[in-house]
Amino acid sequence: MTVDAVGVGGGCPRWCRQLPGHLHLRDNGGDFHTALVAAIDLPAIDGLRGEAAVHLTLSQYVTGRTAGEPVIALDLSGEEDGGMDGLTIAEARSIADALYRAIAMLRGAWSSEDADVRA
Ligand SMILES: [Zn+2]
Repeated sequence: MTVDAVGVGGGCPRWCRQLPGHLHLRDNGGDFHTALVAAIDLPAIDGLRGEAAVHLTLSQYVTGRTAGEPVIALDLSGEEDGGMDGLTIAEARSIADALYRAIAMLRGAWSSEDADVRA
């Protein structure tokens, strides 16, 4: 892997959406490559939540000497930079697989008409 491929030394990985040369590396600290993958607005659901938003971002911490593992952050707070710690690719895959299973379990087993039955 080349130096630029991991984002050390001021070069950005291909996925980074910051301006070239954006890194400000210091002796005792580093900076982040980042990319916003999706910002999804969620409408309010009665009794469950108000309007919300999900931000999915990629980030990678980089110092002048090393580059951390790129991670995927899924922020459910609706606030910019208010999210959880990043997920590795394997962790994100596990969560995505679980979401697909949950969708499959509900698909065909629930419809909005079911809500009328409880009313
Ligand atoms: Zn970058």
